Amino acid sequence: MQCESTDRLISGLTQTKKKGQLFVVSGPSGAGKTVLCRQALKEIPQLSYSISYTTRPIRPQEVSGKDYFFIGEEQFRQMVAEGQFLEWAEVHGNLYGTGKEFISKQQEQGLDVLLDIDVQGALQIRRQSLPSVLVFVIPPSLDMLEQRLKERASDSSRQIQTRIHNAAQELTHCPDYDYLIINEIFDQAMVELSSIIIAERCRNRKK
Ligand code: 5GP
Repeated sequence: MQCESTDRLISGLTQTKKKGQLFVVSGPSGAGKTVLCRQALKEIPQLSYSISYTTRPIRPQEVSGKDYFFIGEEQFRQMVAEGQFLEWAEVHGNLYGTGKEFISKQQEQGLDVLLDIDVQGALQIRRQSLPSVLVFVIPPSLDMLEQRLKERASDSSRQIQTRIHNAAQELTHCPDYDYLIINEIFDQAMVELSSIIIAERCRNRKK
């Protein structure tokens, strides 16, 4: 008898862990969050990546359907009207959105989903009271941020200035996040991100 009820208890506890959770990673462009996310996907099992929709022009090394779904503004607005986005925002003059269907399919399969999105999107997710962990990544200095954006060589100098200007605004939202990673040394930042994901997977008591 005792055995049966203990078994049910254990089975109940393991069931509650089944649905995947959302790990939202934000921070100023150039903070290195995308590279961190890519590496986390390679290293951490049972983790999937939310491929966003965007109206931004595709960059030379990018692949549609892998980095983003690149779509026109009309299609994007249509998707907004149809309620297909979990969140969406205008970032640096372009539209970006997270597809609802993809996320829920991944979660139902028990996969955790990593979202590389801006602060507006992260706050929309928080407001919906969805179980989510918000991680903010910052560079060690503004000089480092500028240097990384220039090294990336994917944006014009005007776009780089817009991104630097927007960084100040984004940083004010840091207190809204659960975790902060200062990305000075990549390997260290990677250990921190992995540790957050693993610790949150083992979380027992709700926040
Ligand atoms: P990039 O154009 O450099 O790939 O991304 C610019 C910014 O848009 C980054 O801060 C990135 O995190 C954010 N972003 C990418 N996808 C989404 C999304 O689906 N929603 C929101 N709100 N921001 C996104």
